[in-house]
Amino acid sequence: MKKAYGAIKKIGDKEQRMVNDILHKISREIVDEALETDAMIAMGNLKGIRENDKGKRFNRKLNGFPYYKLSKFIEYKARWLGIKVVKVNERNTSKLCHKCGNRGVRRGSLFKCASCNYSCNADYNGAMNIMKRAMCYTRMAGAALTQPLTRQDEASG
Ligand SMILES: [Zn+2]
Repeated sequence: MKKAYGAIKKIGDKEQRMVNDILHKISREIVDEALETDAMIAMGNLKGIRENDKGKRFNRKLNGFPYYKLSKFIEYKARWLGIKVVKVNERNTSKLCHKCGNRGVRRGSLFKCASCNYSCNADYNGAMNIMKRAMCYTRMAGAALTQPLTRQDEASG
């Protein structure tokens, strides 16, 4: 981890600006899409899980990570436009099958569940679990639920 952090620290201002530009562009696209489809945005709470894993020192370093930055950009753009953002505890979302809830196995980019014979892209499976949790939180809070969907759902119909 120290080696990786060293490499990140060496990223200069110019590169940092380029990364920020890209992250702003991606976050704007996601937020625009949510606005157009009247959707809410569900995000895994990356910070919480890392805190448990590696402690506060690692968590501070996390601020330089693009994924963490991206989630922050999405959050403030969405709040600005009044789009609902639900943060979800990410624990086990990559390990559990989103169809049946049992523990599956991840091999590379593929997720396989032995319990129900379901398999799909591992990131998709994780995203579906995050979305399900978000919907559950929203229902508990009694908030109005707009159409939650993922890009993949939208593509398949
Ligand atoms: Zn399953």
